[in-house]
Amino acid sequence: MEKICVAVRVRPSANEESVNGFRWKVESNRISLHGSDGTPISGVSFAFDHVFDQECSNARVYELLTKDIINAAVEGFNGTAFAYGQTSSGKTFTMNGSDNDPGIIHRAVKDIFAKIQKTSDREFLIRVSYMEIYNEDINDLFAVENQKLQIHESLERGVFVAGLREEIVNSADQVLNLIQLGEANRHFGDTNMNARSSRSHTIFRMVIESKGKDNKCNTSSTSDDAIRVSVLNLVDLAGSERVAKTGAGGVRLKEGKHINKSLMILGNVINKLSEGGKQRGHIPYRDSKLTRILQPALGGNAKTSIICTVAPEEIHIEETRGTLQFASRAKRITNCVQLNEILTDGALLKRQKQEIEELRRKLQGSHAEVLEQEILKLRNDMLKYELEREKLAAELEEERRSHRERDQCIREQQMKIDNLSNLVTLSDSDRSSSHDGPKESPQDGSTNSHSMSQEDAFSTPCFKAAPNMFVAKRSHYSTLQECSPLPDTFEDFADEDTWMRMNKGYIPDLDSLHMTPARKVQSFPFTEDCSMETSSQEIENLHRQLKLIIEERDEYKRKYEEQMSFNSQLTREISQLQEEMLLIQGIPQNLHETVTNCKEIYKDVCSILQNFIADERSATAQILSTTIEVGTSLFSTLESHLSMAMDGNRPSHMNDYSVREQCNMLHQKLSSTISSLVLSDASTLQDERSEESVYSSKIKVAAWSHISRSHMPILLFFSILTIGFCFSYFKLMISGHIGKSNCLLEAGTGK
Ligand code: ADP
Ligand code: MG
Repeated sequence: MEKICVAVRVRPSANEESVNGFRWKVESNRISLHGSDGTPISGVSFAFDHVFDQECSNARVYELLTKDIINAAVEGFNGTAFAYGQTSSGKTFTMNGSDNDPGIIHRAVKDIFAKIQKTSDREFLIRVSYMEIYNEDINDLFAVENQKLQIHESLERGVFVAGLREEIVNSADQVLNLIQLGEANRHFGDTNMNARSSRSHTIFRMVIESKGKDNKCNTSSTSDDAIRVSVLNLVDLAGSERVAKTGAGGVRLKEGKHINKSLMILGNVINKLSEGGKQRGHIPYRDSKLTRILQPALGGNAKTSIICTVAPEEIHIEETRGTLQFASRAKRITNCVQLNEILTDGALLKRQKQEIEELRRKLQGSHAEVLEQEILKLRNDMLKYELEREKLAAELEEERRSHRERDQCIREQQMKIDNLSNLVTLSDSDRSSSHDGPKESPQDGSTNSHSMSQEDAFSTPCFKAAPNMFVAKRSHYSTLQECSPLPDTFEDFADEDTWMRMNKGYIPDLDSLHMTPARKVQSFPFTEDCSMETSSQEIENLHRQLKLIIEERDEYKRKYEEQMSFNSQLTREISQLQEEMLLIQGIPQNLHETVTNCKEIYKDVCSILQNFIADERSATAQILSTTIEVGTSLFSTLESHLSMAMDGNRPSHMNDYSVREQCNMLHQKLSSTISSLVLSDASTLQDERSEESVYSSKIKVAAWSHISRSHMPILLFFSILTIGFCFSYFKLMISGHIGKSNCLLEAGTGK
């Protein structure tokens, strides 16, 4: 447990200090009010962790108040520093500073990057965002179009502002430029008090993620694997001043109400937190956006420091006193700070790494594998959302149950009150009937006794007459100067007095207003209506969140079904391809059989032709034998290729090449045999009939017809040869196709 660090800073006086009036005196870590004669005013002296006087620089404030928080943030602890105080007391000066004396934000940004530079064993990812809360609307200062953003809560991210732009940054200058851009979007207005008074709360946020650098020796996933995520909030609150003092009206009045309201709720939260753990009860974080966003920083897991700025002038004495009272209450808050290490997917660093891994897998894996993985991921997501939905449903049920219990409790109380009233009425009537004394009119008597009995029910068990009646007390309560007001009243009337009251440090004595011990956290200003309203709002919120989650789940379901149908379509296509492939695989078998038949026929034809030729040394016999040789060789090659295709092997390009070579060779051989034969026949004919030149043309014709007749079988083999070539090329095509379909089948079956 760690206490919030609280400091007070007095800004230099705007005008010459009057020697006669009241003035604030700073002594070491104490600030006290002194009268005109220099004597301290009793009860107006406060001590804090630090009190900075008018001479103090931003550098010193940063050094003493925020440096530790910044260092811890780099190491993985949440941190928050915020400036609180009336307008023109120096909040913005402290946070933003001037050119000569940069403020906390500037120094923090520089320091963070310097520290990161020095931390060589970790890698960092830094995101920054800058938002303002203006009239209870959250606006993005990095993106003017992002207005009226909503606060959401999730298991992974906790409370977050949806749609807020987060810039990933890698240098201090980059951040400072972004802040400058954001500053231009801030809402400024004029009031009598401060010409450029800020009318909105601004939250500058840095999310620091870090991870130990990869250690090759350490392959196991240990805590080195954990990612540290810390959030640093630097908050410049809007000032609040009394309406009459600022002369505000119209828009300014509305702004003032919102500012006052959210600061008052901040005050309430601080009040509650400053109470001891046991009496603490419900903390109204949800009553304003500021407290909701700062929830982890207030009474949660964050190192927090508050700098309360005050103005020294006599005219601001009341505001200064209020600020100091606020600061003393804040001093009592303790936070429980933990190192934020996560092993989940929440961290962006981790998510990015996973995405890269996933993309790599997608690149490496086959299409079907990727689909399977995506389906698996969708299933996991669905499961996660299902769990989340169940959790919300359980919370909703719990909320409803407590609601019912509260109602029951109210009814019981009402009954008790009624019973007591009856009892007192009876006892009074008994007394009045048994005692002699001045008689009251029946009407007056009944009213009085009833009212008194109600009063007694809340004061003492012995039914003594009380000076005030309960109902009267309550209405009177709201007119008391020292009472804390209801938040809702800010909507209806000027908040000047309320602010005053709050600043005077009224802390509602909640325990005295308890209805029953079971309802400890209830106070009269926040009646059942109020708490029930909050509960029903919470229930409504839960309903909305549940609806969103259900929609999201439906969307995932739809996507999942789409994926499933796509997958089954793919499976159908794959099985079709498999059937086709089986058919294609059967083709070589058929071809092989056909080729074997052809070969047989070819052999028969060849042997018949050889029988016709009587002279085995004649030219015809030579051509025939060459042709038989060529044909047989082609048929064998064709057969061997087909059997290879049947076995599922794809013939190599080398084989294709050698087949073509063989074909060319055989073709050349055949051509040369034929041409040598034709030449020898022609020359024989020319020698025999050289003299008969008159008939030379006839002789040529006769010679050619002789050749044609005698070489008829050769022509026949030419055609067979051509068929052989065709087969061969056809086979090459088929075997190529089969090779492809084999690949397809392998991919489809995921081999
Ligand atoms: P706030 O943000 O609280 O409304 P500002 O920071 O704008 O107030 O301060 C009001 C004026 O006072 C500014 O002109 C600012 O420069 C000046 N000021 C505030 N604090 C100091 C300081 N410590 N030293 C010098 N000038 C200061
Ligand atoms: Mg300011």
